[in-house]
Amino acid sequence: MNGIFLTGVGMITKDDILEVLENYDRDNLTIATLGSHSSLHMLKGAQLEGFRTLAVCQEGRDVPYRRFGVADEIIIVKHFAEMNKPEIQEKLREMNAIIIPHGSFVAYVGLDNIEKDFRVPMMGNRRILRWESERSLERQLLSEAGIKTPSKIEKPEKIDRPVMVKFPGARGGRGYFITDSYEGFKNKFEEMKQRGWVTDEDWEIAHIEEYIVGNNFCIHYFYSPLADEVEVLGMDRRYEANIDGLVRIPARDQIEADLPPSYVVVGNFPIVVRESLLPQIFEMGDRLADAAKKLVPPGLLGAFCIQTMCTDNMEFYAFEISARSDGGTNTFMDSSPYSFLRYGDFMSMGRRIVREVRIANEQDELEKVVT
Ligand code: AMP
Repeated sequence: MNGIFLTGVGMITKDDILEVLENYDRDNLTIATLGSHSSLHMLKGAQLEGFRTLAVCQEGRDVPYRRFGVADEIIIVKHFAEMNKPEIQEKLREMNAIIIPHGSFVAYVGLDNIEKDFRVPMMGNRRILRWESERSLERQLLSEAGIKTPSKIEKPEKIDRPVMVKFPGARGGRGYFITDSYEGFKNKFEEMKQRGWVTDEDWEIAHIEEYIVGNNFCIHYFYSPLADEVEVLGMDRRYEANIDGLVRIPARDQIEADLPPSYVVVGNFPIVVRESLLPQIFEMGDRLADAAKKLVPPGLLGAFCIQTMCTDNMEFYAFEISARSDGGTNTFMDSSPYSFLRYGDFMSMGRRIVREVRIANEQDELEKVVT
């Protein structure tokens, strides 16, 4: 057993985590994550970097990790949220585990638990995860970085241009709609209600933002705390149900069928950007990393993503960020054109994250990359 850890009410501090690390056998680390989201390339990357790997899987969801052979060990739990249970945490510490966070880890373990309860060292800044989850904090970060965002419309009555209406929570892009007036908002809200995709309570919490006419680029960055440098490792655009299916229907049939679109991410396409836009892309990443250091020290350690729309004026507008590995990193489980430029073959985001952990460990600087 690696020490006794009581469930505290306060925030987990860096010292708490350093104390856990002191009890670790650093020659025998395990790279662990929740078996979902972008964990396949994290586990594969960890194996390639020479680590033992562990996936915590929900009953019935372990098949990919076994069949692809990326998990040296698997812990099965009834529900993903149990990863936070004291006995699972204890097991993780016994295995000298470093956790790699991702979207499903945050969703299932929960922000409060990650901040206050989950006393296992994690690659990255656990405090910054809240900043990607709360729209006001996310906007503060983007604004500090001087990155353009779609204008926010305060309430439905104020809609005076094409807008995209979004709803919070785990429903993905279901219920999202596009309109350009208060009348349109009322009609479409009612339509979504009929479908059971929104409820009356959603009226107040609807997030209404300017619709940016352009193309989607989700840019996958890595900030190396050891080298103090931001790398661009890949890009994707989303494959969304049912909008990407609907647009295959001829216009005449679309009008006739009058089907409401939804924007639920079910896959991703790898993508490259026009080369002359790359300076802007690096600048956005550098600025966001700098803003994060200032607002949420120690900043964006490791993987992060800026989800953008690029207009025909060649301007990027960020509509969301991920302060950890984003799902679109699955488009380069081997490598992307950009990770190839930087590293040659076989550099996924997962491998890059774990490489930082390996180098930090070898240099006895793990405290620089984990919280
Ligand atoms: P989200 O769930 O926020 O990722 O949005 C779903 C999809 O809608 C994205 O993949 C984008 O293609 C698109 N989108 C989101 N925000 C905007 C916006 N402000 N303007 C235009 N398209 C957007």
